Amino acid sequence: MVDWLPYFFAGLLVGAALAGIVGYKMLVRWQHAASDMETQLRSHSFELQVTLDELAEKNQQLEQQSQRDALSGIYNRAYFDRQMSAEVKRSRREQRSLAIILFDIDHFKKINDTYGHLAGDQAIKQVSAAILQQLKRPGDKLCRYGGEEFALILPNTTLAGARQLAEQIRQYMADNKLLLAEQHVSLTLSAGCYAAIPQPATNNDEYIAFADTALYRAKSAGRNQVQSYPPMAASDCLDIPGEVNEH
Ligand code: GH3
Ligand code: MG
Ligand code: MG
Repeated sequence: MVDWLPYFFAGLLVGAALAGIVGYKMLVRWQHAASDMETQLRSHSFELQVTLDELAEKNQQLEQQSQRDALSGIYNRAYFDRQMSAEVKRSRREQRSLAIILFDIDHFKKINDTYGHLAGDQAIKQVSAAILQQLKRPGDKLCRYGGEEFALILPNTTLAGARQLAEQIRQYMADNKLLLAEQHVSLTLSAGCYAAIPQPATNNDEYIAFADTALYRAKSAGRNQVQSYPPMAASDCLDIPGEVNEH
């Protein structure tokens, strides 16, 4: 037996023990590093989720802003164009009557001249809110079509139904004064209505043109009234029981 053999084995044992200790320490360190990384990853993915949620909310806000009128909060002209052409297509497909009402505030220049432009702005806001308040169907969309002009899209509605709603809104405005520059001010609306089951060639322009023709007639006949295209015969203007359900 060689003398150094026990030393050799002892050395091997000590070496193995040392390697084990070093390996264990490295393992513990790796475990800590791995757990640190996992914690960091969790915190980063949480932050990422928060950012994504904020981004989705901002997108929704932007989308809303892009379709709303900044002054009145109702839908804007761009929304009107999109929504109306979608409704024309849908009504044609389903062979249902689609109606539109154009409202224009009577003598609005006088409001601006008498009470100032800010009061005029307030009037536009209050008229928008008053019209909205008269609507009951979620599918009816009120849009600011121009300065003091409003377009109301009424899916699944006949001309008689549109006239009835327009008359109800006109009456409400005539009966209720606005509060402008701390004064109670009377304001009236004129309205033009049109309704049809869209044909293959029907587009937004046709609806606007006919409703505008009716509105023009309401203005020239003295304002504060509802007209339609085609004009209704005097006998058609009487209240017809059951027409309430038309709209
Ligand atoms: P009519 O009965 O014929 O409709 O008379 P009108 O005075 O209302 O005539 P018109 O519709 O031509 O005039 C609209 C006026 O509305 C002109 C414009 O100065 C004003 N206007 C348009 N947009 C706004 C707005 O956002 N704020 C205010 N304050 N005024 C506006
Ligand atoms: Mg006008
Ligand atoms: Mg006007």
